[in-house]
Parts: sequence; structure tokens; C-alpha cells
Amino acid sequence: KTARGMMAPQAAIDAVEAATKLPFIDAVKKEAELFQQCLFSDQSKALIHVFFGEREVARIPDIPKDVKPFEIRKAAVIGAGTMGGGIAMNYANAGIPVIIKETAQDFLDRGMAIIRKNYENSVRKGRFSQETMDKRMALITPQLTYDGFEDADIVVEAVFEGMELKKQIFGELDKICKQGAILASNTSTLDIDQIASATTRPEFVIGHHFFSPANVMRLLEIVRGKATNKEVIATSMALAKKLKKVGVLVGNCNGFVGNRMLHQYGREAQFLVEEGAIPQDVDGALYNFGMAMGPLAVGDLAGLDVGWRIRKEYAHLRVAGDRYPLVADKLCEMGRYGQKTGAGWYKYDENRKAIPDPEVDKLIEEVAAEQGIKRRTITEDEIIERTQYALINEGAKILEEGIALRAVDIDIIYLNGYGYPARRGGPMWYADAVGLKKVYDRICRFHEEHGKIWAPAPLLKKLAEEGRTFADFDKQK
Ligand code: NAD
Repeated sequence: KTARGMMAPQAAIDAVEAATKLPFIDAVKKEAELFQQCLFSDQSKALIHVFFGEREVARIPDIPKDVKPFEIRKAAVIGAGTMGGGIAMNYANAGIPVIIKETAQDFLDRGMAIIRKNYENSVRKGRFSQETMDKRMALITPQLTYDGFEDADIVVEAVFEGMELKKQIFGELDKICKQGAILASNTSTLDIDQIASATTRPEFVIGHHFFSPANVMRLLEIVRGKATNKEVIATSMALAKKLKKVGVLVGNCNGFVGNRMLHQYGREAQFLVEEGAIPQDVDGALYNFGMAMGPLAVGDLAGLDVGWRIRKEYAHLRVAGDRYPLVADKLCEMGRYGQKTGAGWYKYDENRKAIPDPEVDKLIEEVAAEQGIKRRTITEDEIIERTQYALINEGAKILEEGIALRAVDIDIIYLNGYGYPARRGGPMWYADAVGLKKVYDRICRFHEEHGKIWAPAPLLKKLAEEGRTFADFDKQK
């Protein structure tokens, strides 16, 4: 289950099986044959890329090794919601005492109860002892005030996503926290520089973008503001390691690296549904490709209302005439927010098993008809190309803008934060494997067929025309 689509585990089983059935010398030959197949496979190359990539992302060209990280002895987290609780657990797991602050006792109690339940599950599954759990729980101090924030070495803000609220909190932290403390925000989209502007010390403000569930997902996007100083970045990278995360430094833009690319991927998944696929076609094709889950099923898990609220808030920025996916909004209007309401793109039974829903198929057909889209057969290949190339094209723009330092940084983000299959090496490595010329030509076709959202990234065009790869591009760095 955990090695779905991987060659090597199956080859190991085949070798053992051969040993039970063949004479010794033939079985050893068979094993050598299987080993050779694995060794020279594309999967092997991709996995080697991932192995070295995880080390490469720690190298930041303008921050030499002699920039010394600060010691983090005490932390504080603001907000005990979905993210805040998981973030506090990361600190406690690393043996760092952490305060967790809320606005009301109920919210604090609810957050602490979830932390406790998560730890109890781990003890029940034998991951660690009751004694370890007790020690970790004792490191977390729940409270409603800023008491003790004055000697915290880092504060991570994880309150609701809203600029005004974040600025208010950073203004308060600026007054309370000691000089030299790192002030981090877990925002998934907001401008770190604008948040930093609420303080008198923007050089100590940085984004620490954890992924949900924060106590499980390995990725930490570390978002550099224009004023963030080098020690704060070096400390954040070292801290990621201590928290057993993979820290990847990214630049400041809407959605940073991961979510900015995801937006394009999700958009194509929905357009494919409007053009003729059904949700299980799209999710099935991407699951077969190796993604941990299909994008529509992920939407149901995370809650469709989250994106809906953001889309409503930013509706005024939408350009008239640009195509906009409509089904997700209509699902929300019907109260179908995903798993939490028992229905979204799918229906859910009491075990949260997704069941295709004819009502959704009907809605999709209505939306397509309203928009004058003639539904057609969509192949699995088209689903893969449209969604993967949307990721790759945006990834190339991100690289060119310097928001990601290297293509491999994007790959490591996708592998550790978005369930991208390691055997494919990440979206940029996958693009190299397909061939940038082929990817670029298809994107040009999509551009003709679907308009400006598919404008090819100039960097992709350049590399494709020069017969080069993203891996080559990284080598020049
Ligand atoms: P949430 O609604 O689950 O939790 C937010 C918590 O903050 C609530 O419990 C609320 O009571 C508390 N809060 C609000 N104002 C406060 C204040 N002034 N002081 C102390 N506590 C306060 O939200 P969430 O999903 O945990 O998201 C938090 C942040 O993390 C947001 O910026 C979000 O964009 C970001 N984020 C979320 C996810 C995700 O998948 N949920 C992933 C990455 C980042």
C-alpha cells in the first residue's frame, strides 16, 4: 500500500519467491537480473534525485555556513486551531517548551483535547510510551494571555487567515517580545512584508508555512520577506531539521510555491470535469499516476468552503471574460462542503468512504450546458497532461521569478507537502523525464485551445528550444 507503483519492493518479493522455487544458481541469477532492472530504471534515477534534493534544499547561496543560527529554547504559538495545535506538538516532540495562546477557554480546551487525542492514538499504536506522551504534554502550556511571551525565542502565529488580524497580532508581539525573537506567521497566502510592516523589526519576521496535519506533514515552506535577516533564515532552516521537517526557503508571493502551483492544478482538474470527465475519472487518473489522492477528493477532505470563501473575497479581482470553474461554488451553494457535511464532489458513508453521486454528475452537465461546453470523452492521458503541465508551467514561472531557488526545491515541496509520488521525482523532474520540448509543445497547443491561462512560461520555452532540462538549469546555480 505504501509502495504503490514502486518497482523495487515488488522486485525484492520476486527475488525471495525465486529463491523458494529455483535451484540456487538460477535464483541468484534472477536476483541479479531484477537488481539490474531496478538500478537502471527511471524510478531509481528519480529516487536518487529526491535523496540528494533533500540535502540540496538546505544550501542557500547567499547564506554561507558561517551565518550562525540562534538557539531556540522556548517557543510560543498563537491559535490552537487545526494548525496551531499541530505546530505546538512539533515543538513539544523536539523537547522545546511551548506556550499555546487562544482567545477563549473553549477554543483552548478543544485544541488541547485534540493534541491529547493525537498523542493517545500514537501511544495506542505503540509509536511511543505513555511516559513520552506525558513529557510532551507537560511541555505545552495552554493559556489566554501573553504571559511568558517576553522570553520566547520564537512565536508562530496560526490564527484565522486575514491581513488585519495578523497585523494586529504582529503589532502586539512587537511590543511584548524580546529583541532577537523570531516572529513567524503560518499564513498560506498573505504577504509576509505587509505582515512585517506592523512591527518595528521586519528583519525578524518570516513565514513558517506548515502543512496540514502539521504534526504529520514533513514540509515547512520558509518564506523570506524582503527585510528578513540571514540569521533568522539560518535559524529557521536549522529549526526545521530539529522539528524533523524538510525546510525549503521560498520567496514571498501569493500562495508561495506550493499553493500557487496547486491553484493551477486544481483549476485544470475542474475544467476537465466541465469538459466531459466525471470526478472519479480525474481523481482515478491522478491516483494511478501516483498522487496520494486525486485533487477533487482532496478538496472534499480539506473542505470546499475554504476555497469558496477565498474566491468570494477576491471575486472583485476576477477578469471579465476569463474562464472560471463553476462546479465547486455550486456544490458549496448546495451545502456540500465535502467530508464534513457528508457530501461534496462525492457522497460519504459513515466510514467516510467516497461514493460517486449521480446528483453531482447532473450538476456538472447543467453547468457545462449553461456555459455552452459540449461535453466529450476525456482520456486518462489528457487528464495527466492538463494537470501536470499546469503545475510545471507555473513552476517554471516561479523559478524564473526566483521565488524558488532551484527546480529541485519545487520537487521537494511537492513530494513532502502535496502527496506527489517520489518515484516520479517531483513535477519538475517529471517534466525533464517527459522531455521539455514535448511539454512545451503541448502547452502551446493548450494555449491555442484554452487561451491565456496557458501562456507558456518563457523559461520553459527557452530550455525546450535549447534542448535543455530543469536539472541543467539547477546545475548553473
Ligand atoms: P482554525 O480556524 O482552525 O484556527 C484558528 C484559531 O485561531 C482558532 O482556534 C481561533 O480561535 C484562534 N484565534 C483567532 N484569533 C486569535 C487571537 N487573536 N489570539 C489567539 N488565537 C486566536 O484555522 P487554521 O486552519 O488552523 O489556520 C490558521 C492559519 O494557518 C491560517 O493563516 C491558515 O491560512 C494557515 N494554514 C492553514 C492550513 C490548513 O490546512 N488548515 C494549512 C497551512 C496554513
